[in-house]
Amino acid sequence: MKLEVSGNEIKVPEKNHEHVSETVMHYGTKNRYCDTDKWGLKMRDLNFDDIEEPYKCSGCGVCFLECPIYEHSPCESAGAKGKMEAMKLWDSGCIRLEDIQNIFELCTLCKRCENVCTQEIKTSKLIRNMRRYLIQNGISNQKSNEIKECMLERGHPYREENPSFKSLPEWYENKDTETALWVGCSTRHMGLLEQWLKILIGLNHRPTLLSEEKCCGSILKNMGYDDEFKNIMQKNVKDLSGFKRIITLCPSCYTTFKNEPKIKGKVMFITELLDKNKQKFHVSKSLEEPLMLFEPCHLKNYEPWMDASNVIREILEKNKIRYFMSSDLYGAKCCGGGGGMLANHSDISRNRASQLVNDAQKSYNIKTVVTMCPFCNNVFNQADNKGVKVLDLGAILCI
Ligand code: SF4
Ligand code: SF4
Repeated sequence: MKLEVSGNEIKVPEKNHEHVSETVMHYGTKNRYCDTDKWGLKMRDLNFDDIEEPYKCSGCGVCFLECPIYEHSPCESAGAKGKMEAMKLWDSGCIRLEDIQNIFELCTLCKRCENVCTQEIKTSKLIRNMRRYLIQNGISNQKSNEIKECMLERGHPYREENPSFKSLPEWYENKDTETALWVGCSTRHMGLLEQWLKILIGLNHRPTLLSEEKCCGSILKNMGYDDEFKNIMQKNVKDLSGFKRIITLCPSCYTTFKNEPKIKGKVMFITELLDKNKQKFHVSKSLEEPLMLFEPCHLKNYEPWMDASNVIREILEKNKIRYFMSSDLYGAKCCGGGGGMLANHSDISRNRASQLVNDAQKSYNIKTVVTMCPFCNNVFNQADNKGVKVLDLGAILCI
């Protein structure tokens, strides 16, 4: 690629992340100190807690080994290292913001690179901040905008309407006014609500379902639409006020609400409830073994203290079910769909999910993938699974 360089400005010939990556890596590594006077000027605009963060990157490249996107789109800008280089180049005025927009789209926010980063850089926070800054500067793409418009119009990001968004099951009656069940739009979209209601009734819980429930808003936050996220959160805080407990069925909703100080009730993920009652469960007889229990990033990497899969392992072992944990097979690799990737780069997300399932099938002869996250369930259901079944956790538990 021929670069046009004028002073500190680099003209990128076309909006193509591979070209930008080449630019970034060329100037990021060989000419990193091109304009030190300007370091940090733009970072301050972003309100980063630590404007030096990208400058901590040593360029070691360890993050590439973990990155699900780099694995499927092996150009350096796909991984954390390339993103740090892009930020430094932009910060020092060598490259335009609009030329690096697509680099920051390429990320599931899985935090896997953070787990191994030799400089302990909080990559996912930096990437969210960059996305927010891009949106604030009017730089976005059409697909992200469509998701945002869909959220504003319908209250969730799914284009196809699903009946469970409109009505609650006729047979279900709210009884517990102190506990709310936050269903989540992915659980509704995938038609997974009724199976969980049956489990909750089996445990003598009849929490309140909010008839006006919309999305928790995490997708807006992840894509950088901060103002819209705050508006949705304001409504959710109002709807959830007065409840002492909020049970969530989606790891992403759980993390979103747990980190919102205005929500006063105790936010719980469904496995916390299962943990207290694990002796009561057995596993569906129609389940085909062995299975792979897929651990979502929003639990494994965002809430590692919870060890949410532990309770499921105990239930599976008590029932003598043959299983593998995705972390045993791959170190908890990401499904590839989070952080807006399924919306913006569905080809990469589907390829990634297909490869995870196909590898597990070839190496371990798995017959079923069991997900603990309705969004991972959605991504795997869109993949080419070659006969491997994809089931939600709620579908295999019986009481
Ligand atoms: S957060 Fe995940 S997808 Fe994003 S750069 Fe890090 S490892 Fe790659
Ligand atoms: S692991 Fe951390 S320090 Fe090393 S290249 Fe990646 S972001 Fe930079």
